[in-house]
Amino acid sequence: MSYDFIIIGAGHNGLACAAYLAKAGAKVLVLERSMHVGGGCSTAEATLPGFKHNICSVVHTHIPTSPVYRDLELERHGVRYVYPEYLRGTIFPDHKSIVMYREPERMATELSKFSARDARTFTKLYEDYGEFIESTYLPLMYSPPLPPSLQSAELEKSEEGRTLLQWQASTPVQLLDELFESEEVKVHFLSRLTVLGFAPDQFGQGWICLFRILKAEAPICVGGSQQLALGLRSVVEAHGGVVQTDMEVKRILLRGNKAIGIELKDGTRAEAAKAVVTNVEPKKSFLRMVGEEFLPPSFATRVKNYHSHGRSLFVLHLALSEPPQYRAGAHNPPVNVAFSQEMFGGSVEEQVRAYQEIAMGRPPRKEMLQITLPTLFDRSQAPAGKHTAVVWQYAPYSVEPGGPEGWRNLREEYAAHLLDLWRSYAPNMSRDKILAVAIQDPTDTERHNDNLVNGVDVVGDMTPDQMGYFRPFAGWSSYRTPVEGLYMCGGYCHPGGGVHAGAGHNAAAAIVEDFKLKKWWD
Ligand SMILES: Cc1cc2nc3c(=O)[nH]c(=O)nc-3n(C[C@H](O)[C@H](O)[C@H](O)COP(=O)(O)OP(=O)(O)OC[C@H]3O[C@@H](n4cnc5c(N)ncnc54)[C@H](O)[C@@H]3O)c2cc1C
Repeated sequence: MSYDFIIIGAGHNGLACAAYLAKAGAKVLVLERSMHVGGGCSTAEATLPGFKHNICSVVHTHIPTSPVYRDLELERHGVRYVYPEYLRGTIFPDHKSIVMYREPERMATELSKFSARDARTFTKLYEDYGEFIESTYLPLMYSPPLPPSLQSAELEKSEEGRTLLQWQASTPVQLLDELFESEEVKVHFLSRLTVLGFAPDQFGQGWICLFRILKAEAPICVGGSQQLALGLRSVVEAHGGVVQTDMEVKRILLRGNKAIGIELKDGTRAEAAKAVVTNVEPKKSFLRMVGEEFLPPSFATRVKNYHSHGRSLFVLHLALSEPPQYRAGAHNPPVNVAFSQEMFGGSVEEQVRAYQEIAMGRPPRKEMLQITLPTLFDRSQAPAGKHTAVVWQYAPYSVEPGGPEGWRNLREEYAAHLLDLWRSYAPNMSRDKILAVAIQDPTDTERHNDNLVNGVDVVGDMTPDQMGYFRPFAGWSSYRTPVEGLYMCGGYCHPGGGVHAGAGHNAAAAIVEDFKLKKWWD
């Protein structure tokens, strides 16, 4: 059978792109290397039967409000989200805490426990920028990136815009120092600003970090994150597309400078009449599947320079007989039932130092912990009365001594250390309450999905040189490539890693335009 488009990889971006193209009437084939669709949206019984664990993504911040959810009618395809009432709780070593609320007034009241001035600053920020963030953030994500000159020209026009341009150039720590006075308030927001792996003292994260100060929705996919991928697959199939798992693409076939199909690991070939679209990160897609000799040298150099050196996550999947009760909950009960509990020490300096340790290959001994219990909000993810928890600690991929392999000697002790740290905040989490533990160090994450090179969750560092107009490479942020009929649609493209399907959506728009297909969505 021949297809119009072959999509390599059934991550949520590949599936979203395929769904848009299939709905446009194209014949689409999606080939996935692993046994399951979803990539970073995968759910598995990693500890005990009946306990569903999200191996990578847990929260899909933008999906339920995205054009993708609406356009593809994902709710009709079984994708539903629940919204925890309390968004996040930051717990400090003295067991004080800050709970994040979606209502700005409640958020300001919460901050006023630490500083009346910071509460006023937050309210002012919300008044000045809340509407701006609301109205620009999603449109910017679900369209190709603007050239920096255009973006700056818009911002230069107003006082607020000029302030944003200055913040654009600063570090997260500088921004927080400028805005807030309380150390606790800074610690709370700093952990939000670094969520995409951006180091606290790194320049240039940009005004986008305001989004993370002002907004903090935490929608959880009912049934586990993989339900999103299954829903997307269902859309593809409902429109005549074919999705095949256990199919590793080895080569992209070329005729001259045109991609004409693929070859699988077992030698089977499939033809794409119109184009091949790759969900797979740049080095594998271009250097391995296409071949450097078929690329313009300047492009090949850019591919080689694409980097994934940032921090990774050390993950524990837990099966629990009861949920944790935090000491902090005695003074601030919503902490216990917030989407996540985050323990990042008591000072900004500690977070800066932890990032420096990670850069030197030392897993931090101090807590950089985020704990989530999806079962507090979706009972379907564990047997009755029981819970699953995921523990994330920021960590390096390569450790000293031993490099990545060094984790083999370290992982058990490090896991035990983190559980002890956690217990100091949640004393009821004694060993008998933890029914089973599955350890996932950064090398396991990469083994699970080698699209996440070095276990970097956002498919290549989201640093200023690899964001927006520069993602994945300067001059190539339109989802097109120098190979005719070869397109990019993964999290290594704008708007980056994470689960929002922005790259899949935007790539589909570029492809539909190039092939003059019916653009059936807005
Ligand atoms: C521990 C962890 C926690 C995370 N938590 C969150 C979170 O809570 N929220 C959030 O938004 N994001 C989170 N992320 C990030 C998120 O999971 C990823 O950024 C996102 O899934 C990337 O989506 P993608 O479709 O671009 O790529 P992927 O999901 O990586 O999909 C790529 C697919 O291509 C397949 N593939 C690779 N090579 C081939 C080949 N040769 N042939 C065929 N198929 C191939 C892979 O098997 C994979 O299925 C987390 C990541 C990690 C590691």
